[in-house]
Amino acid sequence: MIDFHCHLDLYKDPASVIKRAALEGVYVLSVTTTPKAWPGTRRLAEGQKRIQTALGLHPQIAHERESELSLFDMLLAEAKYVGEIGLDGSPEHLPFMPAQLRVLKRILQSVSRAGGRIMTVHSRHAAKAVLEEMKLHGDVGIPVLHWFSGNSDELALAVQRECWFSVGPAMLKSKAGKDRIISMPRNRILTETDGPFGQISGKSLEPIDVGQAVSALSALWLMPPDEVAALIQENLKRLLAEAGQELGT
Ligand code: MN
Repeated sequence: MIDFHCHLDLYKDPASVIKRAALEGVYVLSVTTTPKAWPGTRRLAEGQKRIQTALGLHPQIAHERESELSLFDMLLAEAKYVGEIGLDGSPEHLPFMPAQLRVLKRILQSVSRAGGRIMTVHSRHAAKAVLEEMKLHGDVGIPVLHWFSGNSDELALAVQRECWFSVGPAMLKSKAGKDRIISMPRNRILTETDGPFGQISGKSLEPIDVGQAVSALSALWLMPPDEVAALIQENLKRLLAEAGQELGT
């Protein structure tokens, strides 16, 4: 099983979350929200073959953390993955859009200069702007749009631009979420939890809960769960092959 977007460092007790994930053999992309969090978050993955850490600067705090961009640049050489990055155009974050854009542009410039990365990307109420920025910055690597909530035109554009998608149990609970997933290419979908933010029935999800996404995809696609799990695994292998990386097993 694969949890391609999880904030391991934001759980109260990351060690026990990691222990449970390791027991179940879950592959985790551990994302960060600030460059300052990178060293500590990467330390959580020490000795864990199935955890990779991504270097990020979350759009919702971009305006407070712009000063960490130079640290982002310094750390990028050692980061195989980038995220969480992106834009958030929802009402409470819209006032900070100029800072969000400055930060995203600068990150994409650095990533492009560094040869591109697999990026886990937030695009809530800003899908079109995120796609536009990625186009502007040339070869930035492979964007995986996490918990995509854009409209059907934006989704069609994302598919056309060869974006990937990561989808989780919470997204699969809603009719709108399921409608979007049906329109995504199955060979470019990964599973995620977005824990501890991603919740079901008021409880934070963790990597071992990603099986709930597999079950929901199984119902949506009318495909047995083991075939869904195998497809997601194949997808990840192909994503890494395209990016010139290997799957830690
Ligand atoms: Mn997230």
